[in-house]
Amino acid sequence: QAPNEENLRSPVCCIMGHVDAGKTKLLDCIQGTNVQESEAGGITQQIGATLIPTDNIRDRTKELKAGAKLKVPGLLVIDTPGHESFVNLRTRGSDLCDIAILVVDIMHGLEPQTIESLNLLKMRNTQFIVALNKVDKLYSWKVSPNAPMVNSIKQQSEDVKSQFDTRVIFQFKEQGLNTELYYKNKNMGETFSIVPTSATTGEGIPDLLLLLVQWAQKTMVEKLTYHDEVQGPIVTNIKALLTPRPMKKYRLKGKYMQHKEIKAAMSIKISAPGLEHAVTGTSLYVVGPNEDLEHVKEKAKGPMNSIMTKIDKNGEGVYVHASTLGSLEALLEFLNTPEVNIPVRGIGIGPVHKKDVIKAGAMLEKEKEYAAILAFDVKVKPEAEEHADDLGVKIFIADVIYDLFKQFKAYIDGLKE
Ligand code: GDP
Ligand code: MG
Repeated sequence: QAPNEENLRSPVCCIMGHVDAGKTKLLDCIQGTNVQESEAGGITQQIGATLIPTDNIRDRTKELKAGAKLKVPGLLVIDTPGHESFVNLRTRGSDLCDIAILVVDIMHGLEPQTIESLNLLKMRNTQFIVALNKVDKLYSWKVSPNAPMVNSIKQQSEDVKSQFDTRVIFQFKEQGLNTELYYKNKNMGETFSIVPTSATTGEGIPDLLLLLVQWAQKTMVEKLTYHDEVQGPIVTNIKALLTPRPMKKYRLKGKYMQHKEIKAAMSIKISAPGLEHAVTGTSLYVVGPNEDLEHVKEKAKGPMNSIMTKIDKNGEGVYVHASTLGSLEALLEFLNTPEVNIPVRGIGIGPVHKKDVIKAGAMLEKEKEYAAILAFDVKVKPEAEEHADDLGVKIFIADVIYDLFKQFKAYIDGLKE
């Protein structure tokens, strides 16, 4: 399929930055949810994804008068975990994304994980937009709830405005990066844009959304053309095949022993550069001497592509949780078959948390039947269950895909009667 502006998939956007910069709250603001307050210790623990349909974005950005030009079906936002011990998950998140939001707390400027995120993005050549967050904390800030920043700014004093660009632009410069407030940026691509935001008042969110979508569809037509991959496979050379050493010898010679060759099923550790970026549950392919690398790469790309393309284009549908990427893929595949045809709005890998319930709850006002979570081979946290009861979100749990479908179908049929 040739690149085609009329047939674009939704860009995948991840939110990165230092812990407490406001990533989750910003995501809440974008999704119209309230997850942040429900998280254990305010820390995001898993990767998940939600689609924000273009109609929604168009509506929220109408004051910026750019509605007609939005061509992608939506923006798929990915939650990335924020805690220090989650570097690996964070890396995975950034692997998937086409474009990123780098959140910086205006009161703190660049912090260690901001720089870590920045380096990940640079390494992958991922375009990003800086959200200079918590502007409502600036002394004498005048709030206009949910207003575009370009409007909100007109109400602020010169002193407040000057705090937007002084420190942070200088700090980015120290990291070798040119940045500029987005409405002054004449050279996007070379110079990264900064959007002042407040996840508390909603100010600047319209600007951020519009800029993300416009920038993605302007620069990534090729990448976003529907068939195209979200993520490339990792091609590497195996350096070592390792198995755990018997307990006794641990301390003397290290945890693992090396092997030249390993036969049959055995729990092994493979050491190879770049492998730490692989998504759990994806496959390993060995490229033999007579095999075509490109062909093997195509095979490896399958699962992630299929997952991202099976999320409903209108952002309507149920939430789906599974234990691994593979089982998630199988479940999505099943839900997508014409006889079943259950649309999916968002996905998660791992247990169902309260925040997932909140996200699924966003459907209550639109399509009540889709305010549901299909949990396949995963646990549901007690708080999540409680909250689901309170909200009226249905959670279906099963270890067999077909049972999940039967339960859900019985529920829908019940609603219709
Ligand atoms: P994360 O660790 O980056 O996900 O940060 P959170 O979203 O959990 O936010 C950390 C804290 O900052 C929470 O107490 C939020 O309520 C608060 N916060 C986030 N964004 C804003 C903002 O724009 N303004 C203000 N005043 N507080 C914010
Ligand atoms: Mg968070």
